[in-house]
Amino acid sequence: MSDQNKQKMQNLQSPKGMHDILPQEQAWWDKVRKELQYIADHYHFSRIETTLMERAEVFEKTLGETTDVVEKQMFVYKSRSGDRLALRPEATASIVRSYLQHGLAHLGQPLKLFYLGPMFRKEQPQAGRFRQFHQMGFEIIGGDDEPVYDAQIILAMVRLLERLKVKQITVRVNSIGCRICRPNYRKKLIEYYKNPNFKLCKDCRRRLRENPLRLLDCKNPTCQEYKPAAPISLDSLCVYCNKHLKDTLEFLDELKIPYQVDHQLVRGLDYYSRTVFEIFTEATAADGTKFDFALGGGGRYDYLIEMFGGRPAGAVGGALGVERVLEVMKALKSGSAPKEKATVFFIHIGDTAKKKSLALIESLREAGIPMQESLGKDSLGAQLRAANKEGSRLALIFGQKEAFEDAIIIRDLDNSVQETIPLKKVVTEVKKRLK
Ligand code: AMP
Repeated sequence: MSDQNKQKMQNLQSPKGMHDILPQEQAWWDKVRKELQYIADHYHFSRIETTLMERAEVFEKTLGETTDVVEKQMFVYKSRSGDRLALRPEATASIVRSYLQHGLAHLGQPLKLFYLGPMFRKEQPQAGRFRQFHQMGFEIIGGDDEPVYDAQIILAMVRLLERLKVKQITVRVNSIGCRICRPNYRKKLIEYYKNPNFKLCKDCRRRLRENPLRLLDCKNPTCQEYKPAAPISLDSLCVYCNKHLKDTLEFLDELKIPYQVDHQLVRGLDYYSRTVFEIFTEATAADGTKFDFALGGGGRYDYLIEMFGGRPAGAVGGALGVERVLEVMKALKSGSAPKEKATVFFIHIGDTAKKKSLALIESLREAGIPMQESLGKDSLGAQLRAANKEGSRLALIFGQKEAFEDAIIIRDLDNSVQETIPLKKVVTEVKKRLK
């Protein structure tokens, strides 16, 4: 390739931090989609697909204007008419927007929804962190603030991971309180972090004024040193929030879901209230790799519907990062790449046979046989190589002689044993051998 062409190709790569999902990856993705659908059916969640773009305010007003996601990570596009549209950085705000816009409350009280789709955040790409990534999540919207719903969301997420053979799952849980008690916690955090000896990073100095809970989330090593001695939310919870947390944990105990209470867990978004949680795996891959990232997270968001102007109603949800779950599945060799269906490769020799091939393959497909072919190639060798590459189990060889005699050769590609059979028996013979 010439240097000029190389340069041209380089200029036309996918955007930074955004990846194609190639054909060889699809078997893994199919597995995830299949198990997600299984869990959704099992626990009665209905699928929702919202738009990939929203008016930017949908996120700004709800996730919080001073959160990293809104402030630094949103892809915002200004249309000629002056509308500001954002590629969604997460799905919950969009789903609540759709819930209210379409009056979905009548579909169920509460309404249980699930989704899988791409999200967009302008982050510095690194391992497990992309600019376009996928989340699959569950929401229970419009119910009371019953802790049983918090437990049901966690249950669905954990069971999904289990079905995907992710081992040693653990859930970190906390309560960040409600409108009544959270201001106390904020005050305590401000008092603690105002310490003149602390050398907080620039972001945290701002967070101290605008969103002190987020100080606990800071990844800066100096700021992290102050975290262990920081006040914990439990000491500030009101009686109601305390009981809510206790009840949620009791449901998890009953379900035998492993969890740790982490009283300094806060989540990056403003709309959370009471329960927040993150899900991790403590498993070790064969090569010794540990996974130090969260596979998913979520929480209760009782004020979100109100933020959109709806009547106050409880809601809780959570999402798993698909790419991270896949990374763990692959590293733990969870069943290796899911097996493709055994296929039958059709091989033709000569013009007469070729003419009849397409219709013949069509009738085999209609009979439910997973057929592959390479009709564009005429040489027997090239077709056999293609069959090998596909990993087909059987070949059906259709030559001039067979075409005249209404017969076909059936060949086992594992041991090369073959026999000629009448065409009218081909479906039964193939099905028998594929069993
Ligand atoms: P969050 O609500 O931001 O905690 O996101 C929920 C889950 O989505 C995380 O636990 C990750 O598994 C995944 N996730 C979030 N951001 C990214 C990203 N930039 N790249 C890949 N996965 C992500």
